Amino acid sequence: MNNEKIMVTRSTLPDYDEYCGMLKRIWNDHWLTNNGEYHEALANELESFLDVENITLFTNGHLALESALQSLHLSGEVITTPFTFASTTHAIVRSGLVPVFCDINETDYTIDVDKIESLITNKTCAIVPVHVYGNICDVDRINEIAKKYNLKVIYDAAHAFAIKKNGVDIANFGDISMFSFHATKVFNTIEGGALAYNNTEYKQAINLSKNFGIANAESIQSVGGNAKMNEFQAAMGLCNLKHINESIQMRKHIVEKYRECLSVIKGIHFLKEFEGIQSNYAYFPILVDEAVYGRNRDELADYLQKENVYVRKYFYPLVNAFECYSTNYNVEDTPIAKRISEQVITLPLYSDLAISDCEKICSLIQEGSIHE
Ligand SMILES: *Cc1c(COP(=O)(O)O)cnc(C)c1O
Repeated sequence: MNNEKIMVTRSTLPDYDEYCGMLKRIWNDHWLTNNGEYHEALANELESFLDVENITLFTNGHLALESALQSLHLSGEVITTPFTFASTTHAIVRSGLVPVFCDINETDYTIDVDKIESLITNKTCAIVPVHVYGNICDVDRINEIAKKYNLKVIYDAAHAFAIKKNGVDIANFGDISMFSFHATKVFNTIEGGALAYNNTEYKQAINLSKNFGIANAESIQSVGGNAKMNEFQAAMGLCNLKHINESIQMRKHIVEKYRECLSVIKGIHFLKEFEGIQSNYAYFPILVDEAVYGRNRDELADYLQKENVYVRKYFYPLVNAFECYSTNYNVEDTPIAKRISEQVITLPLYSDLAISDCEKICSLIQEGSIHE
């Protein structure tokens, strides 16, 4: 049996010659960064692809999120969830804001909109919900709440590239959405990220924040940092964007295979397709119900690893359990997030994962069960 390691993710790369072909122009121009030709072309293509008024590119998604929070001149408390990657909360704290954790719901692991209002105080300035695994938050309810209390909404859409809700691209909800183009995401620019927003008034402040606040050679208007995307990243983005639909289609086949093979295993739960949502098939999380399956999540993860299948406890631990936050927060305040984080693993998923490997992973999970 083929016993090569199967990792949880594998970066999508364009054809080697396709990428190298694009590098020739960089060598001709000697223009490596600061709004180069590829940078401008990628921003334009993404505005069309995501059907959004403005795209500002960044060197990574995290700095894009910090820029969004800082460009809106927020102060006070921000309502968010602990069931996310460290970046979401760190961006809030590093922007001088105070995170307030709201629990998630059991149906799709996004923010529980029924619990938001009870967390709003006179210090609340914004909501930062996460489209976790590409599951779309209740954008309509969040919009209503934000309007009622005059709050800004910045979506962490790091997982949600190319997703549509009832035909509308996800980039169009809230004040600003942050996308990550990190190597492990559905669409990558090696490292990279973007802010998407329809209010063009935000553009200047966002641009200043990623380039030292420099408006022109003699006018420095704000205390900005450096978070610019370079030409090598933009070239990778232009190549990968050409193949994105094909790549998502390949992910879809794998997800369908997982759903088919895992549906017969007792004690393993996974999410079905959501109505009205065009998915990007970014992740395949499963929940392990120990009482029924016979092993707990950690035991299943260890067992798979011994068989050379590397899964990820994504997201565990919860952000409110991190050493840097646990003195001020308590995981018991978000019991559903706590339970999900203790049961979840994400299975290997990337566009060129072989269907035979996917079947092998499912067989191993089946063999690991007490119902063998
Ligand atoms: C990847 C990710 C980020 C950060 O993006 P980078 O491009 O890696 O900086 C933020 N939030 C979530 C939920 C992510 O998965």
